[in-house]
Order: sequence, then C-alpha cells, then structure tokens
Amino acid sequence: MSAKFQILLPVDFPCTSNSDIVPKVPRELAIVLSDGSLSATLAATLAQQKYRLVLARIVMGDLKRARSADAFDRQVVHFKPYRHHTLSVETPKKQGGRDAAHMIDPRAHDDLGHRLTTLLPVMAIGFQLAAHYEANSVHIGLRVGRDSADLARASEHVQIWNELVQMTCGRPTIELIAPVLELERWQVVDLGFQTEAPMALSWDCDTDQPEPCGTCGGCREREQAFLRSARADPTRVAAAPVTSATSR
Ligand SMILES: [Zn+2]
Repeated sequence: MSAKFQILLPVDFPCTSNSDIVPKVPRELAIVLSDGSLSATLAATLAQQKYRLVLARIVMGDLKRARSADAFDRQVVHFKPYRHHTLSVETPKKQGGRDAAHMIDPRAHDDLGHRLTTLLPVMAIGFQLAAHYEANSVHIGLRVGRDSADLARASEHVQIWNELVQMTCGRPTIELIAPVLELERWQVVDLGFQTEAPMALSWDCDTDQPEPCGTCGGCREREQAFLRSARADPTRVAAAPVTSATSR
C-alpha cells in the first residue's frame, strides 16, 4: 500500500535537517528591531533560525545617520526579510538643537534608565508592527550582560512589556524577546561567529563617517569585544558596497 503522508509539524519544530520531508508550513513572522549594531545583527540571526523576519529600523530624532542606514540596507540584502521598514520617531529637542534621543551621557548615573527610556517608542512600534503582521514575537538586541547589576531590572522591563501587551492590549500571543540580554560583549562576537551572523554588515560607530572612527564609545566597546574573543573584526577586513537594497 502506498500512501502519501503529509507530516504536519508545529511551526516551531526545530528544522535542523531533513529539509526535504519538512512540509511547507510558512514560518511564523518575527519583528526584529534593528539599528544595524552588532547586538541587533546577532538578534536578527538568532530570530531567523526560527522565524521569517520583518526587519524594522526605528530612527530616533532627525539625525541623518546615513552610515547606520547603510548597515541596515546591507542586512536587508543579507536576511531577505518578508518585509522591512524604516520608521522615524520625532523626539523633543533641547536647547542647542540636539535630539533628546542622543543626549545620553555615558557617564550618567543611570545609563540603563536612559537606554530603556529611549527604547520605549521603539518597543511600542515593534509591538504595533507585530499586531499588524500578526507576528508572535518582537526581537530586540538589547544587551546588558550577565554580571551587570542592571540585568534584573532590564529583564523585568522586558517582562513588564510582555504583561502590558499580553494582558491589557489583548495580544496574548505577542512576546518581546531580547536574546542577547545576558551576554557580555565578547560573547556577542563569539556567538556571532558560531551562528555565522553577518557581523561584517554591522555598524557600532557613533559617528556617521564612511569608516568607523575607532575612538568613539561604540568603536572602543566593539574593539574590546573582538579583542576579548580573540577574533578579527570583519568590518576591518571587507566592506562590500550595497547593490540592491530597496524599501518596500
Ligand atoms: Zn566610532
């Protein structure tokens, strides 16, 4: 007797092999909030192992961050997401014309508080996109590290977002996921290599120069991360031009 069976697997079945017998069940969508940074690039790579991506770049303020936009466009080419968006959030300006979103002083007493406050509208838009696309998760590259005293507070922040959306917004299936929250910077690099994340396409420099400046906070932290993981930073090796990134 020959019968043709169609095996229906749950969409979160770990499809690591035998791709021929896995039925063509569309993978669930995940919103990935990306600023083009190393952490966000790893978060997108981890999300893509399980989901189809909707990549979203939320621009805070009206600063023209062309280099960061270029990193995002390169990642769109790499990840081939189902959809991608660049959305801007207008932020209040303080005297002198600087955007509130870029007023974070690294010496400030409560750096995590500033970071989370800045991310509030980003998270909110992520959830709105998840509702729009009927995606079940929103992924963000928020990272504080395991040894940081901030980890408990950052974890609670994520949990409160989930309760807010699931319990009061009537979206019980949407979950905020911060997959690199507990990682140290060098571990982001390490896991990036293990998962073949496109780290050559990421951008952490605080400036908008064609090449990383090497001296800003973002560059120094990135350099330390690669040094500690004993790896070479691929952005220092190759930087291919973007060829076909278009907004949909
Ligand atoms: Zn820099």
